[in-house]
Amino acid sequence: MKKTTLLYEGKAKKIWNTTDENLLISEFKDDLTAFNGEMKSSEAGKGALNNKISTELFKLLNDNGIPTHFVDMLDDNNMLHKKCDVILIEVIVRNIATGSLTRNLGIEDGTVLPFTLVEFDYKNDKLGDPKLNDQHALILGLVDYQDELDKLRRMARQINDILKPYFFEKGLKLVDFKLEFGKDKDGNIILIDELSPDNCRFWDVQSGESMDKDRFRQNKGGLKVAYENILNRILN
Ligand code: 5GP
Repeated sequence: MKKTTLLYEGKAKKIWNTTDENLLISEFKDDLTAFNGEMKSSEAGKGALNNKISTELFKLLNDNGIPTHFVDMLDDNNMLHKKCDVILIEVIVRNIATGSLTRNLGIEDGTVLPFTLVEFDYKNDKLGDPKLNDQHALILGLVDYQDELDKLRRMARQINDILKPYFFEKGLKLVDFKLEFGKDKDGNIILIDELSPDNCRFWDVQSGESMDKDRFRQNKGGLKVAYENILNRILN
């Protein structure tokens, strides 16, 4: 499969059209951004690690009955996937309070939530990805029906039910993560984007250390070593 024209360049990926009108290629970049682009850097090899980690997790989810856009990993930085109409909702799943939940609601960092929290953010850089409720999402026309919002929540919980025990067995707490969904050519809602330490938080069970993009957000260093560690735990 060959790249043709550049469809879109985001903060962490370039998305290319291909010779097949139903397929796209995501090229994972080494760029790092945080706080809506206010913090910027780059880490050689980060893109390839995220491509490999996402590939393994999409395969795991596909094997467990979750439809995803994943088709094939083409090489270190390139993933072939289905073309979808993107739903402009970031679905945030949280098992442990940290990050914006702690900042916004004053819940103590590290509090294990009494149940898995699923939130919606409006995927809109200009507005800084604000929180959405169901009525906002319907008024904005981000989905057509309430049923579709219910389906996003249901799929997000199913994905958490697969990933949380999977990572716990590998010595990692899955703290929270961000999912994106799209509609394929038949109108089915499927998981898109990526699943990597750029959009998931992982804490080591033993040490409590962050093994994800918080190392960059909090200037802790050691980001690449942490991402390599995540990939090795997935592969072993
Ligand atoms: P928070 O709302 O605490 O900043 O983020 C919650 C979770 O969603 C974290 O795992 C974070 O990485 C992910 N997340 C939220 N918004 C974004 C975003 O715009 N981009 C990326 N890559 N991850 C996000």
